[in-house]
Amino acid sequence: MLEQKIFRRFPDTSTETLPQLSLSLYAQQKKMWPLFSEGVKALDGIRTKVVECDTFSVRLQYNPKRIVSSGANIDAASIKARKCFLSLENLPSEQLGVLYQETFLVLCNPAPIFPGHFTISHIEHIPQSAEEYIIIFLDLAKDFSATHTIFYNGPKCGASAPDHMHFQASPKNAVPIEYEAALESRKVFQRSLGEVQMFTLRELGRAVIVLEGKKKQDMEFSFLRLTGAMRSVMNVIEEPMMNVLCSYGDDQWRMIVFPRTKHRPDVYFKEGDEKVVISPAAVDIGGLIVTPVEKDFLHVDENMVRQIFQEVSISNDMLMHIVQKM
Ligand SMILES: [Zn+2]
Repeated sequence: MLEQKIFRRFPDTSTETLPQLSLSLYAQQKKMWPLFSEGVKALDGIRTKVVECDTFSVRLQYNPKRIVSSGANIDAASIKARKCFLSLENLPSEQLGVLYQETFLVLCNPAPIFPGHFTISHIEHIPQSAEEYIIIFLDLAKDFSATHTIFYNGPKCGASAPDHMHFQASPKNAVPIEYEAALESRKVFQRSLGEVQMFTLRELGRAVIVLEGKKKQDMEFSFLRLTGAMRSVMNVIEEPMMNVLCSYGDDQWRMIVFPRTKHRPDVYFKEGDEKVVISPAAVDIGGLIVTPVEKDFLHVDENMVRQIFQEVSISNDMLMHIVQKM
């Protein structure tokens, strides 16, 4: 099964980089896979607008194709009943991928938020976990660094396949938080862990922790220390709810972690006109909010954005408690 799905391998004997191989895959899939080519064409029609929220701003994206993901039933029973769309045997026959480190397939996302939106899916059907795959997460960020940032959605806060381990890749700086996290004026230094520096970001309306470091082992250790502290403060046994973006540039990794209290805000569950279909995952909490319903795109304002961010993020007190725990 796997052999039939491999477009190319990385690394292999050729000198092509992961972005180059993924770009060739993208071109091939646009030609050979009609559903995907339709998804890419639909990107031409999406609309965006900026919502100013006093101390920060976000972008809204009207993208009707994303209703599949934003509106997905992700309760345990629905997940169990459906065929997993990331498992090899269920991939569309036209879909191929770049095999990464013999364990993950870089796949084109048929309902993209941006051009060059990849899903990087484990070749086996195993549960979503950033802690387990932290080394691959860091490796992917480095190998994709010329063009892409890698992100992760926890199984209970944005992953539409919570039962199948996967990352995603977005074009570098397509998510506003990437730019914010690089601004000295936003950063508040909290502490060092080995050679990793840890920051919070000021006045962004949601809780954010940033880890920066040049050594892979130190990044791994710091991330696991962080999730350990989160587990203790957030009082959970399983992996704490989080969205994470990881990029590599100027010889260092940067991980942006959003600890979460819940997936969907209360307005998501309202009826009729009061319902707002915003289902925040890494991209949305990162400041590019996808609205698959036009009414929401037109009406969501500063107050709604602030309210949603506050509702799905941990409090500032809890954030500082996590920092101290480390
Ligand atoms: Zn699966």
